[in-house]
Amino acid sequence: MSKAFDIGIEALAAGPQPATLGAPETTPAEAAASESRASESLPIAPNGKSFYIETFGCQMNAHDSEKVAGVLLERGYRAVDTILQADLVLYNTCSIREKAAQKVFSRLGEIRFATPRKVIGVLGCLAQQEGEEIFERAPWVSLVCGSASYRKLPELMAQVEEGGRRVSGLDLDTDETFETEITRRDNPIRAYLTIIEGCDYACAYCVVPHTRGPERSRASEAVLAEARRLAEAGYTEIQLLGQTVNSYRDPSPRGLNFTQLLREVAAVDGIRRVRFTTSHPNDFHREIVQAIDDTPVLCDHIHLPVQSGSTPILRAMRRTYTREEYLEKISWIRAARRPFSITSDIIVGFPGETEKDFEESVTLLDEVGYDSIFSFKYSPRPNTTAATMPGAIPEAEQARRLAILQDRQRQIQIARNEKLVGGTFEVLVDGRHESRNQWSGRTTSNRPVNFTSPRQNLLGEYVQVRIARASANSVAGEQVL
Ligand code: SF4
Repeated sequence: MSKAFDIGIEALAAGPQPATLGAPETTPAEAAASESRASESLPIAPNGKSFYIETFGCQMNAHDSEKVAGVLLERGYRAVDTILQADLVLYNTCSIREKAAQKVFSRLGEIRFATPRKVIGVLGCLAQQEGEEIFERAPWVSLVCGSASYRKLPELMAQVEEGGRRVSGLDLDTDETFETEITRRDNPIRAYLTIIEGCDYACAYCVVPHTRGPERSRASEAVLAEARRLAEAGYTEIQLLGQTVNSYRDPSPRGLNFTQLLREVAAVDGIRRVRFTTSHPNDFHREIVQAIDDTPVLCDHIHLPVQSGSTPILRAMRRTYTREEYLEKISWIRAARRPFSITSDIIVGFPGETEKDFEESVTLLDEVGYDSIFSFKYSPRPNTTAATMPGAIPEAEQARRLAILQDRQRQIQIARNEKLVGGTFEVLVDGRHESRNQWSGRTTSNRPVNFTSPRQNLLGEYVQVRIARASANSVAGEQVL
């Protein structure tokens, strides 16, 4: 690979883009911030075609879409904001829950008659899971490519451009990661940077090992070079991504572990905040806490998905740790000198979950004191061992448990956020709400903050905010000048 680029979308759009119905307007400040991050002007010949990508699911998918967009821009495609304007429509899909998968097939149904002359592609986890079956269910789809095969996207696109039908990339045996010459950066404030792809765990409910393939780490030099390019392009916050980000093992002779890589990314000139997600508790070691505690650039936030508070359910889920082992890791975090925010993912209604098991998830919320959680009803997925487990919990009971869990977590969040009232925190500004005359941003602990300020053009700036009010999901105050 000769050269890589990180580029703001405006730099490659050929001419002014028509407005999108229902899409948020780009403010002049956002446009300026994005343009300032366009690091190179590229010698790309337009091919007269346009593309639109709709992304479902997690941040890994969002960042994959940025890289897929980079591949298309490099081939001369022009990005557009609506399906109607696009010659090529791609759905980057998620299959983590049944609902997400259904949504994709419903989109495919809608586009069939609305836009008969477009080329349609299905990418990502659902593509990997359903494979060529998608061509049977939706014969108007021309391209199916799983996330583990994105490296082959240029050659697959060449086949599609030559009029190929039923073009597919569904290999899982790739031993390299998805590197692109250019990456379209959609977020002008926070840059995503994948350090590890795939997963070698085998959680009973999860499709990821099947859809994203085995774990592959990127060489540390490639990661650091990308971090330096992002800093040069004006980014100050980087989020390192991986399905199990802390399982990172540098495949190059340098052989860095995750903590060593964290320290090196944090040392890149110009980078002020480094986040990472998602961590597996099994690979969460005390030295990670130590590194964060020593290095202010590493953010005061750890997302450590527990999935259940009950050891028997964790065993059934094949999560490879007990409640007590998880809580021991939490105690390392709580012993740090800096007050870290801890967040998590929890599934309720896993097959065989008793009332007692469920109560253990609720009591875990209090024991840890999470700042927020993502909580879900268990949803059986194809190709997972849990799908055929006995003891399915009825949907109504799952919903009851979820409501109880979320209500308890809401109370905890209110109490935790109220403790911040009166304090002053550094906020990286990432949004503006004109109707409320407020700015929004995040603290290093990833807490959403809304605030007022007499100043203009704050997007991308670090400001000090004094907190005056708290609610379950955010805090509010005013800028300290
Ligand atoms: S660690 Fe488990 S839940 Fe996470 S991606 Fe791997 S198999 Fe899925």
